[in-house]
Amino acid sequence: MPLVDMALSKRNSKPITIDDVEFRWAVSARSQAVTEMVTVVVQPPDNGCRLAVTVPCRDYWLNIQSPPAASYNIHAVTPGFVRRITDDARALGWQPFSSGPQFTVSCVVAEARGNAGETCHACWQCPDCDHWYSDDIEFGEQPPLMSSCGRSKHHSGGRSTNVILFW
Ligand SMILES: [Zn+2]
Repeated sequence: MPLVDMALSKRNSKPITIDDVEFRWAVSARSQAVTEMVTVVVQPPDNGCRLAVTVPCRDYWLNIQSPPAASYNIHAVTPGFVRRITDDARALGWQPFSSGPQFTVSCVVAEARGNAGETCHACWQCPDCDHWYSDDIEFGEQPPLMSSCGRSKHHSGGRSTNVILFW
């Protein structure tokens, strides 16, 4: 059974403390060799609403011959990175202690536009409804940036689409 559908066991996950509460997190690298993506799963205690975030991750031990798919490149999913995405996901509406369904955040490759001294933008397209967005970023800002498309009636699941942008 894929990791994203399972409760995280203590043996196969690591603790991370958020607001004095111990969460568990793990990385599902099941399809990494093909997609160069992994899914970071963060599980609150007591069957709270889990977080599942897809991020690009190239593992050189896999000896992938082709060049990286895009300019983004995350070499390791570290505890600091996990903390960043949990903070970002909560700002986006993830409520760890609700009994809601899994809060899923999909990876989208954005294009950073703009020059120093002006407002810059991360331009991206909703993977569900193809609507284009242009989120403000600082010049030279490093990804990721979480965002969402709220055009839920245009989405197959009828819900907002949460995305994590890399550029
Ligand atoms: Zn959309």
